[in-house]
Amino acid sequence: MTRYVYDFREGDRGKADLLGGKGANLAEMTRLGLPVPPGFTVGTDACRAYLADGSVPAGLFDEVNDHLREIEARLDRRLGDRFEPLLLAVRSGGRYSMPGMMETILDIGLNDSTVTGLARISGDERFAWDSYRRLIQMFGRTVHGVPAEEFDRELDALRATAGADGPTAEQLRGLVETYKKVFADRVGHDFPQAPHEQLYLAIRAVFESWNAARAVLYRRREHIPDDLGTAVNVMAMVFGNRGPDSGTGVAFTRDPATGAPGVYGDYLADAQGEDVVAGVRNTVGLDDLARIDPASYRRLTGIMATLERHYRDLCDVEFTIEQGRLWMLQTRVGKRTPAAAFVIAAQLADEGLISWDEALTRVTGAQLAQLMFPAFDSDAVGEPLAVGVGASPGAAAGRVVFDSAAATAADGPVILVRRETSPDDLPGMIAAAGILTARGGKTSHAAVVARGMGRTCVCGAEALEVDAERGELRVGGATVRAGDVISIDGTTGRVYLGEVPVRPSPVTRYLAGELAPESDRLVAAVDRLLRHADAVRRLGVRANADTAADAARARALGAAGVGLCRTEHMFLGARRALVERLILADGPDEVAAALAELLPLQREDFVTILAAMDGLPVTIRLLDPPLHEFLPPLPELSARVARAEALGQDPGRDAVLLAAVRRMQESNPMLGLRGVRLGLVVPGLFAMQVRAVAEAAACRVAEGGDPRPEIMVPLVVDVRELAAVRAEVATVLAGVPGAPSIPVGTMVETPRAALTAGPIAGQAEFFSLGTNDLTQTTWAFSRDDGEGSFLGEYLDRGIVETSPFETLDAAGVGRLVRLAVTEGRAARPELTVGVCGEHGGDPESVEFFAGAGLDYVSCSPYRVPIARLAAGRAAVARACADSDAR
Ligand code: PEP
Ligand code: MG
Repeated sequence: MTRYVYDFREGDRGKADLLGGKGANLAEMTRLGLPVPPGFTVGTDACRAYLADGSVPAGLFDEVNDHLREIEARLDRRLGDRFEPLLLAVRSGGRYSMPGMMETILDIGLNDSTVTGLARISGDERFAWDSYRRLIQMFGRTVHGVPAEEFDRELDALRATAGADGPTAEQLRGLVETYKKVFADRVGHDFPQAPHEQLYLAIRAVFESWNAARAVLYRRREHIPDDLGTAVNVMAMVFGNRGPDSGTGVAFTRDPATGAPGVYGDYLADAQGEDVVAGVRNTVGLDDLARIDPASYRRLTGIMATLERHYRDLCDVEFTIEQGRLWMLQTRVGKRTPAAAFVIAAQLADEGLISWDEALTRVTGAQLAQLMFPAFDSDAVGEPLAVGVGASPGAAAGRVVFDSAAATAADGPVILVRRETSPDDLPGMIAAAGILTARGGKTSHAAVVARGMGRTCVCGAEALEVDAERGELRVGGATVRAGDVISIDGTTGRVYLGEVPVRPSPVTRYLAGELAPESDRLVAAVDRLLRHADAVRRLGVRANADTAADAARARALGAAGVGLCRTEHMFLGARRALVERLILADGPDEVAAALAELLPLQREDFVTILAAMDGLPVTIRLLDPPLHEFLPPLPELSARVARAEALGQDPGRDAVLLAAVRRMQESNPMLGLRGVRLGLVVPGLFAMQVRAVAEAAACRVAEGGDPRPEIMVPLVVDVRELAAVRAEVATVLAGVPGAPSIPVGTMVETPRAALTAGPIAGQAEFFSLGTNDLTQTTWAFSRDDGEGSFLGEYLDRGIVETSPFETLDAAGVGRLVRLAVTEGRAARPELTVGVCGEHGGDPESVEFFAGAGLDYVSCSPYRVPIARLAAGRAAVARACADSDAR
């Protein structure tokens, strides 16, 4: 026969799947000899059987009765005994903690007759009647769904008439009668007097609460599977509401907010746990407990030290003191803020409780990312004006602007406010300190772009009525005009009127070299853990940087080179005119002249970047985007030409440009003339860029530098494209004296390149996986289009769990990545393989790349520390997996 019920003395913390987190930890504390009230756990498989069949599994309650008898014998009290009644607490507890989602029922076993027994053994009639009314209330609410207010109303009425010492025993007895009436009216039958029936119904109610709407919602949000079921913990009651020498509390072995050592917690004298939750009276700190009941305080802190040593981590506990006797009701490895996670991991390693390897597994790249954003001074925030989606973390304050032009023209910080953003808003988004939209969620254009740039963003603050035409923003009755100051919190989604002071992140200041590691506990912990990550990781970390300033910043943040220098950004601004000349050039001489003008500018760019990364590799990608991106947009040009013609003026150069734009217009530019194709059909373009690289390197050598450029060809789909470009590159390089040898490699960013990685590796000294394009071309939707329209719905409906542009799709794109690595290296064993798509800075993806055997990841400069940490974690995880396999 299947067994469903386990005494606390039988389990241990390794059995959380069966006993739930709470049950497993109660068993663990019992094993450690800590003062846990006797009890047992009904395993999760009973709940699963109940949910599957809609009825309690056969034999379950017989088993419950057997265990109950044992508790009765140990405590010499019996459930339902009118002289020595045993009372029980019934609590839910699944594999994962679901705070407040499911139910607890206390004081099971009380009825019209046992209440007098409780009054007798406690010597406190008032306490006995108060316990009875609590049972009717909790039972009514949990088992039968009677709204809490129905009972609260009566309790409040009684409290209002009671004297200063609260209701008398007689009054509480009257309240119990009232509660019983409320119960019967609502439920249709009397409150069950049989204690065993109360227990069975309570267990069943806990099973049912697994599927309560709020629990289902919570699981969906936290990605907890729906089919785990909950365990039920049944425990002998202990009472914190038996006078001033009793009480209840919660405590942490370290401060879960900052990680500071020392015991933290709250205590409420003469109360039960539900009173703490209900906030009936204010709790006091644990220091006060030290004063009120020094013996219990000493015992508690001793137990917490034991628990922390045993679990080798921050633990939180719930405890009750019953007339000077301490009982432990719960413990678990406690939740903590990102700052506390770093501080505690480093402290535990320093104390020798865990190794530095293990400390690294206790912190994540995502937590480090959160620590790098500035935050509002928490003391200074007031009521928010509106609340939207916290789309890109950080805190920003500035004057309101409603368009890109105003954002770029402003001096001083601005917040760009739009109904929603589009690619046209990009310059404004770059210029603004923060972005606020009234529409769109976490995958809207604004959110995605802002996260990519590390810009604070709040999206979808729907209460805002954005009226860009009138330059105002209306919310509730208030109107905010352009130039007014607002503050936005990209973590919480809150929007405030006025300037809330922003505290820069000490971690970012440390990473930028402005703070010494030992200046602050958190910074010291981050420094120590990052150094350990660097020591153990095998995956290199480079940065995507197109300017010397970015390269220098990346280097300071720990980048070991530039993994992607996008040359297209060097053709914007004033140089756009030179590209126009190239596009409009009529005949080889004009082409050559246009290229000759670009050459020195391009060379100077490379000199500065190579200098900033002296001694480290700099992968320079030849021009990638379609050329028309360097020309004015078609609608704008058409309008200009039409206007000139309507006025009888000569549109001049605009007419020529318009013709070129029309000629070059493509239906799907991203799948059109770009990347290597451009190099093959625009004569001399790649040769000019390669010459600029080689001459820049020669120049750096002459200056005594150690330049390490690499040339990268974009969007290759066939080895013959690469072979053709290589031949041209070789000719150019051979003609530049004084340049070091320059490796030539390719992006692998199309499925075909990955599928034919073997032959391509024959022509490439390195691969760089362009997972942005590889994701677009594998999924057959572009990032902008997907995130701008249907991807949000896909996320809501659970079709995808995260955007494949944020976290690498291991099952699909990941297979192509592995194929490229394996077949590329089979053809050329010394092939270096890196990744330079956005995924290179996403902690989860970095762990995937480490597992796939890549040599390095390359990401935005500010994500370099995050990638370093994630790479260290991946190395530790791999070492653990290897040793487990052995
Ligand atoms: C890529 O496709 O992953 C890549 C890095 O190139 P880009 O984002 O410039 O297209
Ligand atoms: Mg690309």
